[in-house]
Amino acid sequence: MKSHPPKWQSLPKSALQQAQVEKLRRYLARIVLPFSAHYGKLFREHGLRADDIRSFADLRKIPFTQKEDLLDDPKQFVLVPDRKILARRFSTIFTALTQGRDAVTQKFEREFRPLMLTSTTGRSSDPIPFIYTQRDLEVLAIAGDRVMRVCGAKPEMRMINMFPFAPHLAFWQTHYAGTEFGTFVLSTGGGKTLGTDGNLRMIKKLNPDVLIGMPTFVYHLLRAALQEGVKCPQLSKIVLGGEKVPNGMRRKLRALAFELGAKTVDVLPTYGFTEAKMAWPQCPAGDAQSGYHLNPDLGIVEVINPETGEQVGEGEPGEIVWTPLAARGSVVLRYRTCDFIDGGLVHERCPHCGRNVPRLIGHISRSSEIREMRLDKLKGTLVDFNQLEHVLDNFEHIGTWQLEIRKANDDALDVDELILHVQKVDNMPEEQLQTELNSRFVAETEIHPNKIQFHSEEEMRRLQGVGTQLKEQRVVDHRPQGGVAPQTNDVAKSHA
Ligand SMILES: [Zn+2]
Repeated sequence: MKSHPPKWQSLPKSALQQAQVEKLRRYLARIVLPFSAHYGKLFREHGLRADDIRSFADLRKIPFTQKEDLLDDPKQFVLVPDRKILARRFSTIFTALTQGRDAVTQKFEREFRPLMLTSTTGRSSDPIPFIYTQRDLEVLAIAGDRVMRVCGAKPEMRMINMFPFAPHLAFWQTHYAGTEFGTFVLSTGGGKTLGTDGNLRMIKKLNPDVLIGMPTFVYHLLRAALQEGVKCPQLSKIVLGGEKVPNGMRRKLRALAFELGAKTVDVLPTYGFTEAKMAWPQCPAGDAQSGYHLNPDLGIVEVINPETGEQVGEGEPGEIVWTPLAARGSVVLRYRTCDFIDGGLVHERCPHCGRNVPRLIGHISRSSEIREMRLDKLKGTLVDFNQLEHVLDNFEHIGTWQLEIRKANDDALDVDELILHVQKVDNMPEEQLQTELNSRFVAETEIHPNKIQFHSEEEMRRLQGVGTQLKEQRVVDHRPQGGVAPQTNDVAKSHA
């Protein structure tokens, strides 16, 4: 239980939130407001000072930041130090007197010089760059170390990191987690770099204890291992990120691991996003979900009602909002993620690992996965693909799948059609599978596919772009103009 600072873990909810607010006030006064072009201006315009934030409820005084603000001009969010302000600070003068001027320069460089960036995957909009300084890399390492500990890693474990080589959080979080925790991690770069065969070879050679990657790719790989007769007897943890992980997918992965010779296996989802510059893990909880264990000393997570913008109560569903407490480089305050968590934020001690940190509970759905489809000639209908994905991942008799949206008769003016591509994994006849899939869709969502097509494992790999795409494609939009832009929060809310 070394992972989260004992001081923070000893606090009850109200004291913890007060400690967060006090840290935020100092962070705003010393770091963000003097050096962030965007927030310096925003606070001035609202007549707001760091000192006005005295309680957790006061957070509401700070206006939200949205993805659109970042898209306008990401540079406005990067902290640029003002040397004149820094030079006047007591801590600077003290460092200069005791360690010399070079030490002062080094300290500023470490805090503020941009060293690395990651970006959003940009499926629905331009990728947004997010800057890290040396200080941010240190925080990334601390957060990574905690991921390892919460997941129950041991230094002697051998791990394979199968996230794609890319400027994305998932890969770098895993890399820094391994080096900070001090364990062997082989990064394969995922399917695009070594292909399925290359990754299988690594599994054969290394006999890993832990596999880390995106759920769809890990699933493909374990299926391929089964077909090729590759065994994985040491495998005890599968750590997932980059995509949602419905319970059905966890079940399928665990079952596959057993078929490959694993004795016990934890399937552990993590949650993170570019703007947080860190990921949060679940702890081993058997078939249950422990929730994502947050780092209260490194950032504030709020859950809000997306319509009113007000914080919701303990354990109530809503949209996840993020404010860092230790970030340099790119900084966003009260950032609206457009991610909805159905079990909300809870502060009670984790019943599985005993850590006393806030946790996000339940399933996450994304408003960008609500798409407009024209199912009849008259009007558009909003379809929540989060729901459709759940139905498919929870359905036992299929492996991977892909939902394709296209125009009927390839005519741009015609209605939209939904085609489901699936791979069978057992002996259930196709006709029966079709009937069962259709009735499950009708029971759990308002729509069902126009057509269901069955494919071999290899065809599914090709369709999903395993080995050619950075991320396996589970939903593809083949309508002209690349489909319809994601809906606004207002629309998304009613489906959350
Ligand atoms: Zn726990």
